[in-house]
Amino acid sequence: TPTEFETLHRQLSNKGVEYMMASFSDMHGVSKTKMVPLSHLEQMMAGSELYTGAALDGVPQDVSDEEVSARPDPASCIILPWQPDVAWFASNLWCEGKPFEACSRNILARATKAAADMGLVMNLGMEAEFYVLKQTENGATTVSERDTLDKPCYDGYGVLDNLHWLSELVNAMDDLGWDVYSFDHEDGNGQFEIDFSFADAMTMADRFVFLRMMANAIARKHGYFASWMPKPFANRTGSGAHYNMSLASLETGENLFKDADDPRGCGLSKLGYQFVAGVLRHLPAISAVVSPTVNSYKRLIKQGSMSGSTWAPVFVCYGNNNRTNALRIPLGGGRVELRAADSANNPYLGAAMVLSAGLEGIREGLDPGDPHTENMYNKSPSELQELGIALLPRTLEEAIDAFEADPFSRTVLGEDMFKAYAAFRREEWDAYHNHISDWERDRYLKFF
Ligand code: GLU
Ligand code: MG
Ligand code: MG
Repeated sequence: TPTEFETLHRQLSNKGVEYMMASFSDMHGVSKTKMVPLSHLEQMMAGSELYTGAALDGVPQDVSDEEVSARPDPASCIILPWQPDVAWFASNLWCEGKPFEACSRNILARATKAAADMGLVMNLGMEAEFYVLKQTENGATTVSERDTLDKPCYDGYGVLDNLHWLSELVNAMDDLGWDVYSFDHEDGNGQFEIDFSFADAMTMADRFVFLRMMANAIARKHGYFASWMPKPFANRTGSGAHYNMSLASLETGENLFKDADDPRGCGLSKLGYQFVAGVLRHLPAISAVVSPTVNSYKRLIKQGSMSGSTWAPVFVCYGNNNRTNALRIPLGGGRVELRAADSANNPYLGAAMVLSAGLEGIREGLDPGDPHTENMYNKSPSELQELGIALLPRTLEEAIDAFEADPFSRTVLGEDMFKAYAAFRREEWDAYHNHISDWERDRYLKFF
């Protein structure tokens, strides 16, 4: 009988694959890769592809250290819909015969293993919000010239004018079996959202990383680019990547977050509330991971220089279907939505943090109190204080402070990633802070 590799080789070869990407996700959730000819499938699977850690962010290695090797997960194989002679694999990193600690996928695998030890599996759906724009002499403009509305959300013309590239992306996602169930024009001019079925957390993280790459590739074919920057324009809404989370029984697959008789009326089980309480406890530290950039914090505001709300969270609180909460229990219950996560997040690290916090809530039997059902944006500082509701970190610096102050971050990410992550983000903050912007010069240069 043919070996597993022979079977995979035949399948890929029948589909015309010539090259494989022995990819892994770096600290940013961006794919790094070496291209391997199909004839070397077996060697690649055994970890033939080596990477010099010193060349990468978040791989705490010196040039003198042993290289890390990528071991592709055969289950993650995706033939590039826009380039069918290439197959992509998500890999786990190894070093000196052991799983490499500071590898995004290994970090999530540790968290999902902890869940499995409790008989649980995390299901995750990620809502993809992003901009697709055209680079012109006048800067980045929308694809459709009509796209000038004040409230473009759900705009029919907006989505139809963009359907030529949008349908190509959606069809590609569907061909991969991701089951897109709807897509629309989002709230910013040139912003879109595609929603597709949930999967186990690891599969979803692989898909989200791949999706960012695929959206870019397909947009480029049409002369556009996709932007996963969390808040590209002050006067338009930012791009979230909300995590829709539930825990299922490992044994039966039953959703353990569902409870139609929930006395709090949200359709969430006791286990679900415990999960929520654990996430709220660590949310400031989690912010540094799910809202990872300087720019992320410009999205987390009630209202910008735009009409209407941003729909982005500002406070550490949870509630029912109401979008002003950082954690929301959407209508019907059975899942919890983390709205703080944005389009630039590394979904492996983000899911590892949230899952671990939720499991802690379950282990300790925490209770988050009653859900907030009112518009939290309208609460005054004194009302918030009375309710005991803290602000989410306001800047990347505050987030990194919270991340470093919470021993939980180190436990979940491991010493090496914890240090590398904090150091990189701290440097990013410093670089930003040391930059003097036009806004400042316009305001102060001749003022005094
Ligand atoms: N774009 C909003 C955000 O930044 C979310 C809008 C929505 O609720 O879909 O999170
Ligand atoms: Mg949306
Ligand atoms: Mg959402």
